[in-house]
Amino acid sequence: MRSVPEPVKVIAQADSQPVNLLGLDREAMQAFFVELGEKPFRASQLMQWIHQRSTTNFDEMTNFSKVLRNRLRALTEIRLPEIVTEQISADGTRKWLMQLSCGNRIETVFIPEEGRNTLCVSSQVGCALNCSFCSTARQGFNRNLDAAEIIGQLWLAEQFIGNKQRVTNVVLMGMGEPLLNFDNVVRAMNLMRDDFSFGLSKRRVTLSTAGVIPGIDKLGKVCDVALAVSLHAPNNTIRDELVPINRKYPIEQLMQACIRYIGDKKRRKVTFEYVMLDGINDSVNDARQLARLLQGVPSKVNLIPFNAFPGAPYQCSSRNAMMRFQDQLHHHGIVTMTRKTRGDDIDAACGQLIGRVSDRTRRSIRMAREA
Ligand code: SAH
Repeated sequence: MRSVPEPVKVIAQADSQPVNLLGLDREAMQAFFVELGEKPFRASQLMQWIHQRSTTNFDEMTNFSKVLRNRLRALTEIRLPEIVTEQISADGTRKWLMQLSCGNRIETVFIPEEGRNTLCVSSQVGCALNCSFCSTARQGFNRNLDAAEIIGQLWLAEQFIGNKQRVTNVVLMGMGEPLLNFDNVVRAMNLMRDDFSFGLSKRRVTLSTAGVIPGIDKLGKVCDVALAVSLHAPNNTIRDELVPINRKYPIEQLMQACIRYIGDKKRRKVTFEYVMLDGINDSVNDARQLARLLQGVPSKVNLIPFNAFPGAPYQCSSRNAMMRFQDQLHHHGIVTMTRKTRGDDIDAACGQLIGRVSDRTRRSIRMAREA
């Protein structure tokens, strides 16, 4: 007997609700066509229509017979999020507020730079991790995005920026913790990487995590992308406060997971993000401790100036403190850059994405009371 578990699922879904082809990666798309009794190569053709020729209209898919087009129309759909607003920053950064089904909204940010155009993509509506310096955390967690809603952000961004520009890099650094929405994120990243869809190389797709260790290990086995880890502290005492998931997955174990991810040098290094918080994690001593922690982990450090938001309990470190911190890391031979803040005039900078999530946990009210 043939073993084809995936396609059965796809057709079963089609009975009740049309399958959204936008979010099927090559494996799922092939399984879908096989289940329809079609040849698997139809999958790459359809992916090209959707992701490279940017069509959602089955009538334009001229290398499919009329019969097949009608079947696809009856069983499936190609459905995208809706763009509600677009804001353009003085520095050219663009932020889109996108409407999903069930009234949920997310934000996606496009950052044009010399030689590269980066898209910052959301993976969840809200976030459950409650990092103390992040405005998305204030919203609480609402739901995971499905693969179509994740890849849909890239599809729409390419439409909006026009023919003259392309997205060259994608970072999963928008709203949410991507490793807590593992399957959907991997499917979407497969589409980002696939030559029949967006064709981005493994160094141009970066997943950023707050440190979900089992997710890092699983990712290393199934998907080849760059890894960024939101470290933000040189020890458990500080990190437990800033990134509460550290209490579950402490810093030494996180370093070991990073080393495993780099593995047999298949991947070059891990990027550590470090948000600069005045008087909290920015002393020269902190820098020394960080340097010690990173000894033996092929890495580079991105220092991120803290972006304030209403009610934020922190302030950004002074320029001097950031320079001293960076110098100390350089002194210990650690490649370090300070990230330029982009799009803060439209609240598009790191940690400022809100998307007007309904706060199911009433976390912001609780926090206001506590304050
Ligand atoms: N959950 C994932 C991805 C989302 S956050 C993660 O934690 O990596 C993307 C990056 O923005 C993370 O490094 C996060 O720590 C940082 N960030 C969050 N709030 C910020 C703020 N207010 N100022 C600067 N960076 C912030």
